Amino acid sequence: MSDAASRSALPLGATIGILGGGQLGRMLSLAASRLGFRTHIYCPERDSPAFEVTPHKTVAAYDDHAALGKFAALVDVITYEFENVPAGTAETLAALKPLHPGANALAVSQDRLAEKTFIGGLGIPVAPHRAIRDAADLAPALAALGGTGILKTTRLGYDGKGQRRVASLDDALAAFADLRPHPLVLEALVPFEREISVVVARSQDGATAAFDPAENVHRDGILATSTLPAAISDATAQLAREHAGAIVAALDYVGILGVEFFVLADGSLIVNEIAPRVHNSGHWTEAVCITDQFEQHIRAVAGWPLGDPTRLADVVMENLIGDRIGAIPAGLGPGIRPHAYGKAESRPGRKMGHLNRVPPKMPRK
Ligand code: ADP
Ligand code: MG
Repeated sequence: MSDAASRSALPLGATIGILGGGQLGRMLSLAASRLGFRTHIYCPERDSPAFEVTPHKTVAAYDDHAALGKFAALVDVITYEFENVPAGTAETLAALKPLHPGANALAVSQDRLAEKTFIGGLGIPVAPHRAIRDAADLAPALAALGGTGILKTTRLGYDGKGQRRVASLDDALAAFADLRPHPLVLEALVPFEREISVVVARSQDGATAAFDPAENVHRDGILATSTLPAAISDATAQLAREHAGAIVAALDYVGILGVEFFVLADGSLIVNEIAPRVHNSGHWTEAVCITDQFEQHIRAVAGWPLGDPTRLADVVMENLIGDRIGAIPAGLGPGIRPHAYGKAESRPGRKMGHLNRVPPKMPRK
């Protein structure tokens, strides 16, 4: 595919292929529909939530290269809703159709060690860490990091899965035996004051647009709430935007990227991790921004100009996890924008929907 062809704007009615059929794929598909695109969802699970919002789907494994080829032939551009797209899948698809974000973003964000090396290489602070390739690496790494830390798998972790806090060599050996796949990474425990994230977009012509930093609270390793504005100084907010901008520029990125930060007591920042996709901590944008993260991602991958990310109101996004989905409709009031993902079965820890609470500008009668 020539540069010129891959950079031209997709016409109305074109088809965007989306790998992954969870809630993020569903929300991308809805946003694409509103812009006049068709979407085709590729996902191995037959009962994927995204299948309900478009008639075009492929149910096949991510390593089914014949199915990938057929899918690519039916779409004009390909994107994804999760960072664990296998490298071989990305390679097969990218040879057939434009893939945004590119395979380099997947490679960096799939591996916590590669991610830290890349971000640290840009001069952006990351948590002190050591690679743990076998059990003998644990004692010197723990000693170097002050005797405590968080042991994480380098790959496939999400929502706090694939990581354990350790406070002694015995803890670390037990966690090493339990956590898979290896290798692991031991990170110093960062004494953060709060966590924030910046969701940033970059277009095919290199323009960037960052949403305001969100302040995030996690419970049991899962995002619970995102609050806007974050309780940080303007200088810290500006620095977070600059770091996010530097990361997307260095990756020659196209689409939405989520950047998670730890904020230290002095207002300085450490990047925790990045995600090459629309991000849970950006769901608030759908209620209070001129352009939300889903539309912004579709605009970028379609080669369209980015929209305005300006935030028009304060907002708190609350994830509805497990039975909390009962808040729709039971807990709704006039200032609450609900979003249910259409998942048939609610399980503890499963993201079922979210609420955006927008405080009234004027008293409501
Ligand atoms: P996931 O891929 O599951 O989101 P993260 O690396 O973001 O994994 O970790 C989940 C949460 O665990 C973080 O948002 C933070 O609250 C806590 N955490 C992770 N790493 C550290 C660290 N090095 N120091 C302190 N807290 C951490
Ligand atoms: Mg995280």
